[in-house]
Amino acid sequence: MSRELTAIRERVALGVRILAQQGVFPLALGHVSERVPGENLICILSGEVHDRGGTLDGIGLAEIVVINLEGELIEGEVKPPGERFIHTEIYRTRPEARSVVHAHPPIAVALSTAGQEVLPITARSFHFAPGVRIFSYHGQIDDPPAGAQVAATLGQNCALVLRGHGSVTVGESLEEACINTLTLEETARQQWIAAAFGAPRPLSVEGETKDDRSPWNTPGFYRAAWSYYCAQLTK
Ligand SMILES: [Zn+2]
Repeated sequence: MSRELTAIRERVALGVRILAQQGVFPLALGHVSERVPGENLICILSGEVHDRGGTLDGIGLAEIVVINLEGELIEGEVKPPGERFIHTEIYRTRPEARSVVHAHPPIAVALSTAGQEVLPITARSFHFAPGVRIFSYHGQIDDPPAGAQVAATLGQNCALVLRGHGSVTVGESLEEACINTLTLEETARQQWIAAAFGAPRPLSVEGETKDDRSPWNTPGFYRAAWSYYCAQLTK
């Protein structure tokens, strides 16, 4: 195995451990992936951890497998996840996407069951403008056509909620894709709180546009936030 592939698998394992600790992988369900640059390959968390009744806090290299964009296992001793086609179909349609995360954040999913999109109500969530689309099919995304529908609904956005099921986020780095999941859930929580006081107002209705790249949506922010989450992991 090349040193680059090992580094990607280590990064994917770290992303899984962080998202598990942050509570967006209940019942050890969900997966992180990263594209192998210049190849038709991705590294992704195996689906066997959940099947075994395991937890995601101790995930290491052995649970991160290599698959191609057809969803076939290329390297690894354990099977890939059934919903790998969420990842493969997004990588096909988004050449700039370096990483994809599928998680099950409880509050964002709860809002989707009420037909409410997560809105760009805070500076941190402004890049979700005009709102995070809801994909209304709630079954398993376990074949390429279903994955292609998810990718088409996501479009060029960085986040999507599968109604009553989970989330999908994309990033130009693994850190960005993971933090987009955490920002989605954090925003859903704030939207829920704000709704107790009145209708939450998206920032985009106040004259700003998505093109104004906020300091919360920059490589510098993602680096700093990643360091924070890594530090939380060691406590
Ligand atoms: Zn799922």
